[in-house]
Amino acid sequence: MKKIWLYGNWKMNKTLGDTEEFILSFKDAFTTKQKGYMDIHKKGFLDVTIFPPFTGLFHARELLRREQINFLDIGAQNIYFETSGAFTGEISPLMISDTGCRKALVGHSERRHIFGEGEALIASKVRSCLSNGVIPVLCYGEILEERDKGLTLEIVQRQLLSALQGLDVSEISEKVILAYEPVWAIGTGRSAKPQDAQEVCEYSRAILETIFGGEEASKTPILYGGSVKPSNGKELLIQKDVDGVLVGGASLEVSSFLGILDSYMARE
Ligand code: PEP
Repeated sequence: MKKIWLYGNWKMNKTLGDTEEFILSFKDAFTTKQKGYMDIHKKGFLDVTIFPPFTGLFHARELLRREQINFLDIGAQNIYFETSGAFTGEISPLMISDTGCRKALVGHSERRHIFGEGEALIASKVRSCLSNGVIPVLCYGEILEERDKGLTLEIVQRQLLSALQGLDVSEISEKVILAYEPVWAIGTGRSAKPQDAQEVCEYSRAILETIFGGEEASKTPILYGGSVKPSNGKELLIQKDVDGVLVGGASLEVSSFLGILDSYMARE
């Protein structure tokens, strides 16, 4: 059985009350006996993680502890690379791990394109996560103009090399997750075709192989993100090199978030 990564990026959505409501209703839906998700999770074949805004991280972690929920994980949407200091408004990976969270999105397209984050900053963030015990979920992908010009693989290669080259395999082994997210597919309702997602994920794995070797490349999870929903989740998740999905809009409701997994599980 293939392990599936189902990640939900809430972006700037949900108050503490909304977060609590989501987690409790997720618990009910996920633990429903007929679905069998608890067994699949216990066997290690499911990683379900939500990425609430910073304000919700500690509250969500506490709720998981109180409700004894070990089948849902919490991650941060961003970090700054410094550990502490005069960086008003920023949050360090040390602070993220202090909340009990061990994952953070790095280089999300909204960070790159709305907040102007460049490749050097993103590379520093990856390194800072790794030295503070936080798994970076490295997001990368081309804009529409680049795809139309046939530059997708070139852009993907440049972004991956810039973020990962120079790291030692022992530093990253089982500590990095990739999320290929074509910018034109994020929040637009227009997902990449499953074969296109497969092509780029396969290519990303080949790049990992050139940097870190085949063994590491095969065990690094590679997710696809961009308008994933229950109606297209299965076709994306059955692709050989698509290990999981990073979901924005559809992760805000338990029914659509878990519906992606439901559609994959009901594929036969
Ligand atoms: C995202 O925010 O990473 C994302 C993929 O968003 P959406 O699913 O809404 O396209």
